[in-house]
Amino acid sequence: MSDRSAEISTAYAAALPSLGAGHALEARLIGPAAYAARLSAARDAVNDAGLDAVLLGFGADMRYLTGYVAPALERLTMLVVPARGEATLIVPRLEAGMAGDAPAMRGGHVATIPFGETDDPFALVATAVRAGARAGNSTIGVAISDRLWATFVLRIEAALARGGATAKMRLASDAIGKLRMVKAPEEAALLRAAGRAVDTVVTAITSGKLVGRTENDVAREVRERLTSAGHEVASFAIVGSGKNSASPHHEASAKVIEAGDAIVLDIGGQFGGYGSDTTRTIWVTGPNGAVPPTDDFLHRYAILKQAHQAATDHVRPGVSCESVDQAARAVIEAAGLGERFFHRTGHGIGLEEHEDPYIVKGNATKLVPGHAFSIEPGIYVEGLNGARIEDIVLCGESAVDQLNLTSRELYVVAG
Ligand code: ZN
Ligand code: ZN
Ligand code: ZN
Repeated sequence: MSDRSAEISTAYAAALPSLGAGHALEARLIGPAAYAARLSAARDAVNDAGLDAVLLGFGADMRYLTGYVAPALERLTMLVVPARGEATLIVPRLEAGMAGDAPAMRGGHVATIPFGETDDPFALVATAVRAGARAGNSTIGVAISDRLWATFVLRIEAALARGGATAKMRLASDAIGKLRMVKAPEEAALLRAAGRAVDTVVTAITSGKLVGRTENDVAREVRERLTSAGHEVASFAIVGSGKNSASPHHEASAKVIEAGDAIVLDIGGQFGGYGSDTTRTIWVTGPNGAVPPTDDFLHRYAILKQAHQAATDHVRPGVSCESVDQAARAVIEAAGLGERFFHRTGHGIGLEEHEDPYIVKGNATKLVPGHAFSIEPGIYVEGLNGARIEDIVLCGESAVDQLNLTSRELYVVAG
């Protein structure tokens, strides 16, 4: 990559990831001015969609626009981005200090309205919406966080209606989803650093001891290593051994890892807010290679690797998301194993683990530089074992840009 993201991550690579590295890099890369630009892009999107405001509860959209990671609690916290004028954060008084420390608030780009325990925050939201509404409308059009709790949605609707207007509600993703889908250079740099950090964990686990340990114990080690490699959250540690490797979303269990087990190791966390997510497959032979991988397993793994490579090579601006899925699927189907690959090829990644764009049949979205997503075909034989290879990639200016760089060969380990 020739852009700023590559420069930043080269500079970053000079220092190995360490405790707190993700947050430190995030703070260095994304300052108040970046949030001001994002807020103004969101305001443009509100106007383009013919809306009066977008209303965002806790979650990734609020973090993207302000840097504030609001707690997921029963008191309302809501960012109102109106069609006209300044954005407003309605926030419980006891969390106002915390919110005020977030970069967009610190930079003075968002007005903060704290409310007390007996105040009505929904009335405050309605007031902020009306103050910034487009002139001359009898209906109020708002886009609202896709995952806002019903208890908030219904009370906001009622509060808007009390002002005499009917509220028309849409999903926030319709209006501002496009903003987060294409990663800016500083976001790409965080994703790249997240990939570098999680790769060190893959290397440590695949070169350590596995036989005789429980999946839970390996998962605990994964989480510890994700954190010491700079992730602030160790989100998941899938350690599926033996039959469990055939269950794609198996987490980890008390099962003891034995010679002759395949292991699907799918791990990731949040690094400066941005997700890491990679999968490698291991075969445990036991001491002196006692139980080597079966020919059938090696055959399936070879097909899987070809499928992963075909999808990866297919990535470039202008190709559709579904064609990336098809590139992987065609290889597995041609080998007569189509039934054994029963999930989509990938998902977008950013401030959320799974987000747009999804790499799945039916998604005609064309890739553009800055799209970030996983490529993770798998082949599973129920009751026996399974295998998956997963990398996060960016769509670059002319080709794929891979963010996970550990070997994609089968990891054959003895002990
Ligand atoms: Zn998954
Ligand atoms: Zn994964
Ligand atoms: Zn994934």
